[in-house]
Amino acid sequence: MKRTSGFLLAIVMTAAAQGAIAQTVKITPLGSHDGEFCPLDRALIFEDPDGTRILYDAGRTVRGADDPRLGKIDAVLLSHVHGDHLGDLIQPSANAGECGKPDFSVKATPNSNTVNIAAGKKARLIVGGEMPSFFQVKMKAAGGDPKQVQLLRFGAHTRVGKVGVVSVPAVHTNGLPPAFLENAEMLAANGLTAYVGPPGGYVLQFSNGLVAYLSGDTGITAEQDLVVRRYYKANLAVMNIGDVFSTGPNEAAYVMNTLVRPKAVIASHANEMATKGGKLLPNTKTARFKKATKMPVHVPLSGKTMEFDGSAKCVKGC
Ligand SMILES: [Zn+2]
Repeated sequence: MKRTSGFLLAIVMTAAAQGAIAQTVKITPLGSHDGEFCPLDRALIFEDPDGTRILYDAGRTVRGADDPRLGKIDAVLLSHVHGDHLGDLIQPSANAGECGKPDFSVKATPNSNTVNIAAGKKARLIVGGEMPSFFQVKMKAAGGDPKQVQLLRFGAHTRVGKVGVVSVPAVHTNGLPPAFLENAEMLAANGLTAYVGPPGGYVLQFSNGLVAYLSGDTGITAEQDLVVRRYYKANLAVMNIGDVFSTGPNEAAYVMNTLVRPKAVIASHANEMATKGGKLLPNTKTARFKKATKMPVHVPLSGKTMEFDGSAKCVKGC
């Protein structure tokens, strides 16, 4: 009798352990070319084990709200309003152009790809700085409800399903290009952008224990040590490595090795054709970043879902 109950208990415990293993966060890059990591690729979808789906920095490579890769979207996060993140242009069709030179010939201005997607998906649009009032106007123009726009400034915390969403600083600029404005010829003629407050990054706290730092465009900043590592304890990082506009590969590797110290990294915003046939090309910024970084660096191949457990171990798709 005793042996039987012990045996049953063992079965129950094994099943529970398997249940815990199955609790992964799915991360799917939506780039310009299937199976590759191309210059303007920024967009990622995060899916919590509870089914919550969050789109980060739609940029130019998500083809509007009707892009079949999107599926259900609960919230859209935007790091800052530059055209390559907010989305001034999109592709006319899947894989248009080549990875090294994608075809972004469809204009999304004066609205934006980000707002069109949030409106079309009836998703929350989470932004920081002085951006909400601007986006409320845009959301209405796109047929959405201004209430979909939610403010999240540094230090604040909100929840989307079971996912905690936190805003963290990024050291960058956040001028709104005149192309996104009505009657902004004067700004354009003077070479000026509009003020919408500071740019940012995010920390996502998933229900399986995974804590992901999304750097946004940033230089090296003390907050990566003080806030992202010491307070939020991020164990996965999505790190922008493109140079010129943000940290380059060596600076980004320092941020990973010394400041954030996650268990794993997803390279992002490389501004180069980093792969061919899904294989990382030598002599690329991405290859340099991977070599200089102490923890595993995963290359985001468009359409290829990576699955992470609570300790940021990639258990599938890497
Ligand atoms: Zn950028």
